[in-house]
Amino acid sequence: MSDAPPTPGIHHVTCIAGDPQQNLDFWVETLGLRLVKRSINQDDPTTYHFFFADAEGTPGTSMTFFPWENLRQGKVGTGQVSRTAFRVPEGSLDFWEDRFEDHGVDYEDRVERFDETVLPFYDPDGLPVELVAVDIPDDDPTVPWTEFVPDDAAIRGFHSVTLWLGDSQRTEDVLRTMGLDETASEALPADSRGEERTRFAATGTVGQYVDVVSTTATARQGHGTVHHVAFQTPSDTDQSAMRTAVQETGVRPTNQIDRHWFRSVYFREPNGVLFELATSGPGYTSDEPLDELGEKLVLPGEFETQRGQIEADLADVTVPRADRVDADAD
Ligand code: ZN
Repeated sequence: MSDAPPTPGIHHVTCIAGDPQQNLDFWVETLGLRLVKRSINQDDPTTYHFFFADAEGTPGTSMTFFPWENLRQGKVGTGQVSRTAFRVPEGSLDFWEDRFEDHGVDYEDRVERFDETVLPFYDPDGLPVELVAVDIPDDDPTVPWTEFVPDDAAIRGFHSVTLWLGDSQRTEDVLRTMGLDETASEALPADSRGEERTRFAATGTVGQYVDVVSTTATARQGHGTVHHVAFQTPSDTDQSAMRTAVQETGVRPTNQIDRHWFRSVYFREPNGVLFELATSGPGYTSDEPLDELGEKLVLPGEFETQRGQIEADLADVTVPRADRVDADAD
């Protein structure tokens, strides 16, 4: 046990994509998330960084991508987040299956897992994703974005991530240190990687679960893989306490890094998955009004002084808009 306040859950998940326009079209138009920030990779300003989230960019809802076009196709394997799951309202999976048919999305049959129904699918880069039907409470912290998907089906933040690990024991110790509790285990179907899925639950309602599977599968970072998963440490004090607590388990966290919309600490957990601890603030509305999120390229801090060169190096993209799509259809 540690003195750090437990994490409420996942803060964001960051993945690697190929073509930036294809990435925008799928995550905004097909899945209906809101582009809440259009920026650059702060470690590689020639690459975009897209943030897709709920209507307000609530912590626990943002799926972010680096579209690194020159990178090769990745391979999901051990030491990675193998699948990212989102919450959708109970009763909406028929809508989603129809939508996946209409949009030519690669999806699989529904499965039952821990008494919930799960619809697995892949994004255009082959990233494994799933939708989990859950009862969304009236006081849910997420706010649906309804430009492309109605509110009774809209994605409502993360449900879980699944980790593929060589030897899950030490990772499980880190998860417990972060305040997640083991809640259940379930045998995996015979054709799966690994034999058993063990679920750890955080204290919040969004991005609450981390599922752990012990397996061996060769991983390769590239298009269609997760780069890292971030967990919520709402305040700097929470984050500092958590940093100390995880350090005592033997991992080596970085110092705090200012990521402009949140402040971050990174470490590799014992099986090699890159974890991040992210503060809730200042948030995506700290430099753009809520109703204009994602409309223009935001260059944090010193990067603004290099805007001309940065824009020249980035591919042109068009953010899907419902009015624009309708006009195209006429
Ligand atoms: Zn991150």
